[in-house]
Amino acid sequence: MLCAWPTRADAPRAGVDYLLLGQATSEPTPQRACAPGVLARHQDVLSIAAPAQGWSGEPQAVDVFGVLSGEVRISHGQRQVCGSMHDARTRDSRFRAGVGMVVVPKAGDREPIVVSWARPLKARWVPTLQLGAPSPVQQNDTARLLVRAACIAVAIALALSALMGFATTRDRLFLLYVVVCLVFVLWQAVLGGLSGYPEPWLPVHDRASWWLVGLTAFSEALLLPILWRLNGGDRRWPRSRAWQHAVLWGLVAVGCSVPWLGMPALGTLAAALETLYLLGCVLCLGVGVWALWRGDAQALAGLGALLPWWILIVAEAVGARWLIAYRIEALQVATTWFLMMAAFALNLRLGRLRQQRDEMRQLADTDMLTGLPNRRAGLRLLSQYLEQARVQPQALAIGFLDIDLFKDINDQHGHEVGDQVLVAVARALRTSVRNHADVIRMGGEEFLVLLPGAGRAAAAARLEDLRLKVAAVTPGLGIPGLNVSASIGLAVLRADSDDLAGLLRRADHAMYCAKRAGRNQVFDAEALAGQPDPQAA
Ligand code: GH3
Ligand code: MG
Ligand code: MG
Repeated sequence: MLCAWPTRADAPRAGVDYLLLGQATSEPTPQRACAPGVLARHQDVLSIAAPAQGWSGEPQAVDVFGVLSGEVRISHGQRQVCGSMHDARTRDSRFRAGVGMVVVPKAGDREPIVVSWARPLKARWVPTLQLGAPSPVQQNDTARLLVRAACIAVAIALALSALMGFATTRDRLFLLYVVVCLVFVLWQAVLGGLSGYPEPWLPVHDRASWWLVGLTAFSEALLLPILWRLNGGDRRWPRSRAWQHAVLWGLVAVGCSVPWLGMPALGTLAAALETLYLLGCVLCLGVGVWALWRGDAQALAGLGALLPWWILIVAEAVGARWLIAYRIEALQVATTWFLMMAAFALNLRLGRLRQQRDEMRQLADTDMLTGLPNRRAGLRLLSQYLEQARVQPQALAIGFLDIDLFKDINDQHGHEVGDQVLVAVARALRTSVRNHADVIRMGGEEFLVLLPGAGRAAAAARLEDLRLKVAAVTPGLGIPGLNVSASIGLAVLRADSDDLAGLLRRADHAMYCAKRAGRNQVFDAEALAGQPDPQAA
C-alpha cells in the first residue's frame, strides 16, 4: 500500500524554517580536459580486461592513486576522465584522494577499461589502481583523504602551539619549528593533492612535479639538521654546526633553483634528494645509537623520530605492497610523527627553560646563609599583604627584629659562630610562624616578621613569644659565654593612609627604642607616638 507524504498546511518560510544556500547555475563543473598534448605524454597504458563472461552489468569504480607527475586518464567506451593527483577540485566529487571514474558497462559487454598515465618521476613510484563496487572504493578514497587532511591539521595545530611557545619564551627555536611545520604543510598539501581543494590555494597548476621536488628540498633542508640535533649530533660534535648550516642553505639553494630545471633534470634531482635523505637517516641513526650508548638519554627523542622513516626505508627496500598502495598516507603519517617528536623535544626544552628560570628566581629571592626570603622578596610579600589588608579590610602587623650586640658575638666568638647564631635564630623564627615566607632576613642581623590578620594585642603576644624563642637558641648552640637575645619593634597597620615605608619606619623606630630601653624586649610603635625618631637624630 502506498503511503501519502505527510503534508504541512503552510509552506516552510525561507530564512525561518529552512536555509537555502547557492543558486541554480549554468556554469559547468570545473573539469580537466583530456587535451591531446596531455595525452601525448602518457607512455604507460593499462587495459583492464572484462571478466571472462563479460561485465556483469553492475557499476564498476576505478580509482587511481600515486601518480605524482602528470595526469591520469581513465576511459571506457565513449566516456573518459582526466585528472591530476594535485588538483582535487577538478576531479569527480566521489573521488578526492585519487582520480576515479564509475562506469556502468552493459551486461556481457567486453570493452576494457583503459587507464593511462605519464611515466613517474621516480621509477619506483608506481601508481596504485583500485577496482570494485563504487561504494567500498569511494569509502577507501575518503579514508585516505581523511588521513591526509588530519596530518595537515596536526601540523597546523603544532605550528600554532609553537607560536604560543614563542610568545611566552621568545626562544627563536620555536619560530624555527613554526617554519618547519609550515614547509611540511605545503609539502603534504602538494603531495596529497589538497593544494587544490576546495579551491586552489597554491599556484601549482601543471607544475606539480616542480613544486613537489622544490618542497622536498626545503623539507630535507630542515629535516636533516633537526634529526641530527635530536639524535645528539650537536652535543657530541659541537663543530658539526658548520656542516648543518651548509646542508640547510645548500638544500634551500637547490630548492630555489628547481623552477628552472627541465623534466629529466628534475627526475635526477628527485633521485639525488632521496639518496641524500637515506644517507642522512643512516648518519643520524648512527649518531643517535652512539649518543644513547654514551648515556645521552635525550637522543631517544631523535631515535623515536627516525623510527617511521626507517620503517619506510625498509619497506621500500623489500618492495612492501602496503607502501606502494598507501605511499602518500605513509609519508604524511611519518612526517606527522616526526613533527610530534620534535615538538616533544621542544617541550622538554621549554620545561628545562622554565626550571632554570624558577631556580634563578628562587636564588634571587633567597638569603643564602639562612634560607629565608631576602629583603627583595620580603618587601614584595609585605606589599601584597598591605594590598590585601586594604581590600578585605583586615589587620596587619609587623615585627622588626635585631639581634642584640651581634658585633660583640662576632668579635668574641668569631664570624663562624656569628653565622651559626644567625642560622639558629632564623630556624627558631621560621618554626614559630605558620607561613615560612613570613620571616625575612632584611640584612645583617636584622629580621622582619609579618603577621597578617593579627591585631595589636595578638601581635604583641606573638612577638614576645618570638623574643623568648630567640633567647632559647643559646643553650642549643652550646658555646660557653654566648648569650643571644633580640630587640623587636612592633608596628600595626593604621586604618588611615599608611604605606609600606611608613609601617617599616615605625617598626624600625620602635626597635631602636627597645635597644635604648635596655635591649631584649618588644616595643610597640604606637606606645611611642610623638617621641622623636632616634635615626632621624
Ligand atoms: P645592636 O645591639 O645595637 O644592634 O648592636 P650590634 O652589634 O648588633 O649592631 P651593629 O650594627 O653594630 O653590628 C652588626 C654586625 O653584624 C656588624 C656586622 O659585621 C655583622 N654582620 C652582618 N652580617 C653578618 C653575617 O652575615 N655574618 C656574621 N657573622 N656577621 C654579620
Ligand atoms: Mg642592626
Ligand atoms: Mg644588632
